[in-house]
Amino acid sequence: MTALETTTSTAAVTAPRGGRVEVRAAHKAYGDLEVLRGVDLTVEPGTVTAILGPSGSGKSTLLRTLNHLEALDRGVVAIDGEIMGYRRRDDLLLELSEKDVLRQRTEVGMVFQQFHLFGHMTALQNVAEAPRRALGVPKREALARGRELLETVGLAAKADVYPRQLSGGQQQRVAIARALALRPKVLLFDEPTSALDPELVEEVLAVIRDLASAGTTLLIVTHEIAFARDVADHVVFMDGGRIVEQGPPEQVIGAPRHERTRGFLQRIH
Ligand code: ADP
Ligand code: MG
Repeated sequence: MTALETTTSTAAVTAPRGGRVEVRAAHKAYGDLEVLRGVDLTVEPGTVTAILGPSGSGKSTLLRTLNHLEALDRGVVAIDGEIMGYRRRDDLLLELSEKDVLRQRTEVGMVFQQFHLFGHMTALQNVAEAPRRALGVPKREALARGRELLETVGLAAKADVYPRQLSGGQQQRVAIARALALRPKVLLFDEPTSALDPELVEEVLAVIRDLASAGTTLLIVTHEIAFARDVADHVVFMDGGRIVEQGPPEQVIGAPRHERTRGFLQRIH
């Protein structure tokens, strides 16, 4: 599969919508360990943001706060102006109901390093499950759309196969199809190719590239620097719970201003 073969159908099937992400003064600690120390980030709808940085710099924590997997201690996160977990009234922040939190969670898809597919379900069942459960989509419809999504990630032929019968690259593509099934406004990737054998990395990056050209709002934590440089509109370098430097790839990767960014890029190249 090449990027070009799937571009049209990806745009047709994933139907991107909105996806402006705003993070303001985000702070998060685990006990004494300050993991996010004042992060500010804006992601424009339909753009790709690559997050780079050494292990332990807070990249995963930042992504997780965008999906209610972690709560901030201070600061706010908003998607399309709606504050995650809260609504605004008379300048007060009032906590949302559990139902609204669940809705917000469906609006942000996440793809993990370790795929996290349901082992007892086929590829198609993995993709169709969440729309049925979270959105109440009728079974026939969820399965039909699941097939379309598997086609966009190049796995139409694997619909009835179980995860253990798939390569790591194929499993990750199923996980991407599953994340797309809820029609998220934003899709988060946390090192989506780090667990893959080198020869399987490109097939997953090709799918992400298709999503990017289809206008899906993407945030990707990755160590694939060449990919980030090629696909990202905006690159963020994190270290020690802070954004050290951010900007277009030509700047942050091509001509980094900070010593820490330069050191990091040299180490991983
Ligand atoms: P990165 O993704 O950049 O490697 P993380 O956001 O995963 O960084 O973690 C940042 C720091 O927070 C690390 O030191 C990690 O060990 C710590 N950490 C992450 N999650 C937890 C947790 N649930 N409890 C305690 N410490 C955590
Ligand atoms: Mg991480």
